[in-house]
Amino acid sequence: MGAGGLPGKDDLVLVAGAGGFIGGHLVRRLLEEGYTRIRAVDIKPEAEWYQSFAQTERLQADLRAWPACQAAARDAAQIYNLAADMGGMGFIEAHKALCMLSVLINTHLLKAAVEAGTQRFFFSSSACVYAADKQAEADVAALKESDAYPAMPEDGYGWEKLFGERMCRHFAEDFGLATRVARYHNIYGPHGTYDGGREKAPAAICRKVAEAKLSGRHEIEIWGDGEQTRSFTYIDDCLEGTRRLMDSGVGEPLNVGSSEMVSINRLVEIVEEIAGVRCKRRYKLDAPKGVRGRNSDNTLIERRLGWSPSIALQDGMAKTYAWVYDQLASSGRRGAAE
Ligand code: NAD
Repeated sequence: MGAGGLPGKDDLVLVAGAGGFIGGHLVRRLLEEGYTRIRAVDIKPEAEWYQSFAQTERLQADLRAWPACQAAARDAAQIYNLAADMGGMGFIEAHKALCMLSVLINTHLLKAAVEAGTQRFFFSSSACVYAADKQAEADVAALKESDAYPAMPEDGYGWEKLFGERMCRHFAEDFGLATRVARYHNIYGPHGTYDGGREKAPAAICRKVAEAKLSGRHEIEIWGDGEQTRSFTYIDDCLEGTRRLMDSGVGEPLNVGSSEMVSINRLVEIVEEIAGVRCKRRYKLDAPKGVRGRNSDNTLIERRLGWSPSIALQDGMAKTYAWVYDQLASSGRRGAAE
């Protein structure tokens, strides 16, 4: 046990979904903070993890299964559940059942946490829990945590997240498990998915602009008319919010999201400026677009944690673009244009 009743740095921490984008960064951050016993679990073989660290225990397991969750949670003082079958709008609109099956991961992990006597449990929820009718305009009011109800979340993925949040709440009430819930808003950064169909807008735009630059064919496809708005949260802010929330006494869901709202067209411009290239736009109006506008209201996180995300989109995108460009350049890929 560490200071203030929190689990200590030598107590075991389970990171579920450690082979993924946020999970990989979280393991790195915990190691940097001095945590000595980290169990990293993912369904993917380790060779496909974005980041893996020799000083951690690394396991491949399908956490939808109860025995796998029991084994993963054994002796864990803290659990971060970042495992989910997910992707950008292109994936979640076409794979609603798969997204909802992640309910098995969180449910079994919560049960296993109670069985293992785990002290803290973190669930990665999403801005997709918010009611669609509050996100109908590009010039939208930022979403407050209370806007998740009356419930009308993103079909499939959003319902699973909202249900997962309620499970956390009731496990806290009924079994005394300290649960922490972050509603992430579009997290982006290096070491994440940038192609293959699960990528989200920031990584997809970095890839398209890098491909245009590498191929010399300066054209870019944009999903929708590009006037839909979002805020994008750099991975370092996501980790800071996650760690502060986990160590806090806050049991209610909190937005962990940037409040710097931009249109997708502006996001493309930012990446073009970083890359030093200008592309002709081709708008794919029938592509999956998600809600028309979304932004994070950070009043509650500032009140509860005395902190909110602050990394400028330009700065985060510069790092993300550089990483995606290097991946494409070193793999010899020049993009579909060639
Ligand atoms: P990711 O896809 O990179 O990581 C998720 C990881 O979970 C993957 O490595 C995947 O292999 C693993 N996984 C999937 N099914 C599994 C299973 N049955 N057993 C074990 N592992 C399994 O995604 P991410 O961006 O790192 O997201 C992490 C979490 O944050 C997810 O819960 C996601 O829904 C949530 N979230 C992410 C964002 C974002 O913008 N990235 C926004 C909101 C919420």
